[in-house]
Amino acid sequence: MSKYVLALDLGTTGNRAILFDRAGQLHGQAYKELTQHYPRPGWLEHDASEIWTDTQANLQQVLSDTGAAATDIVAIGLTVQRETCLLWDKTTGKPLHKAIVWQDRRTAPLCRELTEKGKAEEIQQKTGLVLDAYFSATKLKWLLDWVAENASETNLDNVLAGTIDTWVLWNLTGGKVHATDHSNASRTMLMNLKTQEWDADLLDLFGIPAHIMPKIQPSLGEFGKTRHEVFGAEVPVTALFGDQQAALFAHGCDRPGLLKCTYGTGCFLVAQMGTEIARSTQQLLSTVAWTTPDASYYALEGAMFTTGACIQWLRDGAKLIESAPETEAIAQSVPDSNGVYFVPALSGLGAPHWDMSARAAFLGITGGATQAHMVRAVLESIAYQVKEVVDAANADSQSLISRLKVDGGASNNNWLMQFQADVLGIPVERPAVSDATAQGAAFGAGLANGFYESYDDLIAARQVDRVFEPGAGQTAAQENFAMWSKAVARAKNWTD
Ligand code: ADP
Repeated sequence: MSKYVLALDLGTTGNRAILFDRAGQLHGQAYKELTQHYPRPGWLEHDASEIWTDTQANLQQVLSDTGAAATDIVAIGLTVQRETCLLWDKTTGKPLHKAIVWQDRRTAPLCRELTEKGKAEEIQQKTGLVLDAYFSATKLKWLLDWVAENASETNLDNVLAGTIDTWVLWNLTGGKVHATDHSNASRTMLMNLKTQEWDADLLDLFGIPAHIMPKIQPSLGEFGKTRHEVFGAEVPVTALFGDQQAALFAHGCDRPGLLKCTYGTGCFLVAQMGTEIARSTQQLLSTVAWTTPDASYYALEGAMFTTGACIQWLRDGAKLIESAPETEAIAQSVPDSNGVYFVPALSGLGAPHWDMSARAAFLGITGGATQAHMVRAVLESIAYQVKEVVDAANADSQSLISRLKVDGGASNNNWLMQFQADVLGIPVERPAVSDATAQGAAFGAGLANGFYESYDDLIAARQVDRVFEPGAGQTAAQENFAMWSKAVARAKNWTD
């Protein structure tokens, strides 16, 4: 009888369930796009109940498509969009409010207030993070304030808090386990990087009661078993990762000097730094890569918030395209962007600017600009942003980055990857399975429970789909990068 590891990849744009076989190969998958709720400009919410319902539906789908049974699954790995958080009632199992998504900027004024009070440095020292609305801490405070104002009868003893990993784990285990792992906890702005525990001073600062927070555990380990009534079998959950950390794991980046960039809703460049906490001089984040019961690995990260999200916006908001993949042919149909530049700041700018008030902009439009130029400008802006972060990572490190390993939805765009190689002047390597996030969760879960024996063998078996070498477009791409930087300067400090 064949056995599998199940990866549940709960992303920003959608949720996936993927079965991986004993050789670490993808056996079958199911996907559902997730509804994005935009209640106000700069706000973004997800319905956590939809995430859980879709998780169950995807599981049924992948089982029926492949003919496997729940009892054929030997372990589950969870990997999730990070920072997105919610509160729920542990007696009813219902969320008290929609989850606030990592891109949501509603708590930017609170962050500014805290910066003015001189809190940024202490927060950066303790958590490794730049004080920003991106992380969960201010979002949880907002949710607790909302409950106090709008549902004052709520007894906080019945309330649990968590990121999406915690929410889905709690549901999978039938409400038995309230836990998270170090990689997700390190993105809340509430975990002390040194002690790897919730920091009492920070919980105090944000008014978050310690008892509503989940237990923090190693990323690879025992998180409890799924409840039979919920899942159809009692299957151990043996890995939890933040999505970017899972991708780092799947790329085999387990030593300093190795790094990857994931092109999803946002772009995330993560560099493995080994077993000591690393600090950046370039506004990169210091974060946990993953932990095992015996060791902790740390990383430096450049987070760019809205890259693939700009492609979604071209499709759903601006209606300039009908599907994300068609941007490849559209960009190719014109020799350049005709002087049009785009700043992908739909929800502010992350690394290396950290400007919450920046907003997206098209600049350089003349009468000759067409839809194709605008679409191409959006794709180019993704590659330019990644170049900024690669430059920052180079400035932080002894040795220059010589190759970029990529994954994520938008890394399937050949034109974008070639342009990325041109603008960076280094090769860009894309693996055959571009879904590294799910692969990382499956590898972690299978290794933790002994289904897989060797991490090195799993990594060695991964195949490269294509290497994009810097080509004839290099000179123009690198010259245009300077113009794009000018556009970025115009889009900064936009809202109050
Ligand atoms: P996430 O895990 O953040 O939900 P994914 O890795 O699933 O993201 O990638 C989805 C994102 O990639 C979407 O924002 C989508 O617009 C973008 N995308 C997917 N395919 C392409 C493509 N061929 N070209 C450009 N962008 C794409």
